[in-house]
Amino acid sequence: MSKIRILPDHLANQIAAGEVVERPASVIKEMVENSIDADATRIEVEIEGGGVRLMRIIDNGSGMDEDDLLMSLERHGTSKIHDEEDLGAINTLGFRGEALPSIGSVAKLTMSSRIAGAELGTKVVYEYGRLLKVHEAGCAPGTTIEVRSLFGRTPARRKFLRTARTERGHIEEVIRNYALGCPAIGFILRVDGRELLRLNEGMNSRDRLAKVLHYDGDFIEVQKIAGRGEELERRADGWLTPPDLNAGPAKLRLFVNGRAVRDRMLIHAVNEGLRGFLMKGKNPSGLVMLTVNPSEVDVNVHPAKHEVRFRNSNDVHAFLETSVREAMAGHQRHLQARIFNRPEMATPEETFPSPQPVPEADFTPPQNISPPTADSPFQQATAEHWTEVRPASARPTGKISSTLEPERQTATPPHSFTKPVPELLPEEPMPHTESMEETPATVTRPAEFAPPGPAASSSAHNLRIIGVFGDLYILCEGSAGMVVIDQHAAHERLLYEKLHKQYLGGQVASQALLFPETVELSLFQSRLVEKNMVELERMGFALRDFGGSTFVVSAVPALAGNTSARELLLDTLEQFGSEEGNRSAKGGDLLDHILATMACKAAVKAHTALSNLEIEGLLNQMAAADLFSHCPHGRPVVHIFSRNDMKNWFHRT
Ligand code: ADP
Ligand code: MG
Repeated sequence: MSKIRILPDHLANQIAAGEVVERPASVIKEMVENSIDADATRIEVEIEGGGVRLMRIIDNGSGMDEDDLLMSLERHGTSKIHDEEDLGAINTLGFRGEALPSIGSVAKLTMSSRIAGAELGTKVVYEYGRLLKVHEAGCAPGTTIEVRSLFGRTPARRKFLRTARTERGHIEEVIRNYALGCPAIGFILRVDGRELLRLNEGMNSRDRLAKVLHYDGDFIEVQKIAGRGEELERRADGWLTPPDLNAGPAKLRLFVNGRAVRDRMLIHAVNEGLRGFLMKGKNPSGLVMLTVNPSEVDVNVHPAKHEVRFRNSNDVHAFLETSVREAMAGHQRHLQARIFNRPEMATPEETFPSPQPVPEADFTPPQNISPPTADSPFQQATAEHWTEVRPASARPTGKISSTLEPERQTATPPHSFTKPVPELLPEEPMPHTESMEETPATVTRPAEFAPPGPAASSSAHNLRIIGVFGDLYILCEGSAGMVVIDQHAAHERLLYEKLHKQYLGGQVASQALLFPETVELSLFQSRLVEKNMVELERMGFALRDFGGSTFVVSAVPALAGNTSARELLLDTLEQFGSEEGNRSAKGGDLLDHILATMACKAAVKAHTALSNLEIEGLLNQMAAADLFSHCPHGRPVVHIFSRNDMKNWFHRT
């Protein structure tokens, strides 16, 4: 006689329940998905005792008649797929036909349902795998499901449940997820008789998200559609919170074809899209909804359907990453409009009239320097100051010409540089004129910020500079409110973008040193030089082997300003070296790191007092830059304190 027997249904269902029903929140998830699949426009959820005592889900969806109610309790009873072909392209949330029989096998289940147009509905009572009652019942169109005493007869399972509070938290999370995934559906959540959440029908995703996250500020809006021919192929819609706002445990909610999923590949794609805007250890937060052709995704990976598998996951990754990157670029335009556009310039009476150059003090009295006039004391002061720094017509010179110009150097501008001082840096490598050794300690001027003269001082940034706080934070007034800018971070991003562009263009502009510097390297370092010579040259270095492990640096990246050639080289080698140990670091990552380190080294530091003209130049560049809002390490460059923020601080109404 055969040892093998087929398990009775109730046992098979309990086993299935082990996979599908992990905790009360899984029941809520399955039931809410059923309501959504039934085209409900309103879903009410009530729970008691963390869901263990009671879960009630009321919807106004299509409902079921008596036959379907009974069929729904049969294992694999489903109305959503019929054959193999359907399984290949699922466009409903459910399809396994397992949820109701599974839940019914481990709890007391009551279902009341009425289809639209029917006079009466049907009520079914089912307990721990046994059908107890079926009868006609008066009920509203739609379906009401009650689940009581979850795991009442499986104490082993019940032991794994956490406190009512924790279980409730999981349930709230499920509701929030589906409320975000289906913004048009109204949701109500009641916990122990108290209404915890009420979201109206017919909302759009943006408003829903603001309501669910309790955040109504700026979002980074993702919207990208990639269609092949007529057929919609992929679509990404999303609202990400600005990276520096993500306080607390930031959470990214992902949906694929309306289904809330956990997917590391998608999270990674969003992270990559935000690269250079997220600080290390910070996570993106917000909502991303991906829509793909149902045949492109396999949802039948896990009984709880949390996971999906893409047929072509590389393409999906690339698509989402690009969508997010483009969204961030768009967000920069939005921020620029907000920060740098002042529709109505303040009238002279509104601005502070005391024109003074930025003093060394921590805080500077407000000054009106925008737009400076030739006869204003400030303008004279800065003009004189500037003349002393460099003649207006001189192009930045020497190694440090690119960013940090020595004041005395410009006394004798080389003849080769006759163009006006460029706002933007030269793209082509520049001949050397100056050596680092001659660079005096006072060199701290980012020449590129400096406008060529009074004519260029008409500002594109539309901000009024109030002063500099702590030798680091530039305080400005603009239409958005008080704008505070970290001068170092701001400059770092601008430099990084230039370096990056030059690099992608084939070659970072390099600056020859008048007196090449000899650098003694370790064996490991000299091996790194040999191995990465091509890359180093592309990054703007010129190196010559001088025998042994001695190298002569005869040129460095021009944008690196007056950073020591030696330091620059050693830092870069360190990055190459750390990549050797870390095989996972990809080429792009490494490049970003190296260029970001260069930019950081070269950018104006804190405690470097910039002249007002230099600040003007910096702001103008920010206003015109493609990307400006964060330094390449993800630290914010700018913070806005709106007028309302101010009013609130001072309890003004
Ligand atoms: P699945 O959702 O995978 O089909 P379920 O066990 O969750 O399996 O549900 C079984 C069937 O019961 C569904 O296919 C659907 O036809 C019906 N059903 C379940 N819940 C509802 C509901 N709230 N409204 C209408 N029909 C429902
Ligand atoms: Mg279902």
